Amino acid sequence: MKHDLINIHECPLCGHKESKKYISAKDHNVSNDLFTVVACCSCGFKYTNPKPTEETIGNYYQSNNYISHTSSKKGVFNIIYHAVRNYQLNKKEKLIVKHHKNNDTKNLLDFGSGTGEFLKHCQNKGWKTLGVEPEKKAANYAKKKHNINVVGIDDFYSKQRSEYDVITMWHVLEHVYDLEKYILHLHKILNNNGLLVLGLPNCNSYDANYYKERWVAWDLPIHLYHFTKKDIQKIADKHGFKVIETKPLLFDSFYISMLSEQKKGRSKLFGLWRGLISNLKAKKQKEFSSHIYILRKGGF
Ligand SMILES: [Zn+2]
Repeated sequence: MKHDLINIHECPLCGHKESKKYISAKDHNVSNDLFTVVACCSCGFKYTNPKPTEETIGNYYQSNNYISHTSSKKGVFNIIYHAVRNYQLNKKEKLIVKHHKNNDTKNLLDFGSGTGEFLKHCQNKGWKTLGVEPEKKAANYAKKKHNINVVGIDDFYSKQRSEYDVITMWHVLEHVYDLEKYILHLHKILNNNGLLVLGLPNCNSYDANYYKERWVAWDLPIHLYHFTKKDIQKIADKHGFKVIETKPLLFDSFYISMLSEQKKGRSKLFGLWRGLISNLKAKKQKEFSSHIYILRKGGF
């Protein structure tokens, strides 16, 4: 399948007009088409260019089968998957509590809430929650199974005043179509001193450099931006946030490496070893496979 693609003529981060090819990788999920990531010649920011049009990008998302995946507990991998997930949910919420200054209000919005496990966990910990999820099946599942309030993108944009203490985006910012527009709106609806929490893959990691075009976290063409620590710092400076903590997502190196091995036609188990090496290297270099960034609005 070949859909309409748009060429981007300006860096989404700094507006510079020149870019050079960084890497090309195939879309292995749906189309098998080749896509390219370019790097801005001024700030180095990497973005997918050309990218699918806003109308057609939905075609590149796999028809979702993750609902059965997330709810089934059969098999060793699924048992491990669920144990890891619960551990991470706990860690994420605790990290937010550590930085949340105002204990009178606990309003949390999760953008890209999917099937709602994170929000359910937060609700159990006393947070007042709202999910934003454009994918209807996932949103309905979250509502029914976890009794969570979930709205679509239009409702998100209709919010005009600052009312959230925390906004989380777990592996979501790399998917949003218009980066600048989203960040401006996220900033607007966050309270002063509120937290923007971003979980993102890191294309400066050891596993990204090792697997090159087979690194699954390129995830072309649905990952439109490929962030590094430096880029997040730049976004924070530009939009009135302060990066107050950066933490590794230690399990992502294993997960990403296992899927990358599979892409090379090898057993996923090789990925366990590579993921371990990635984490050990990152202990020194501070470039993990994925990071959590905690940004505070204002925060100066
Ligand atoms: Zn740039």
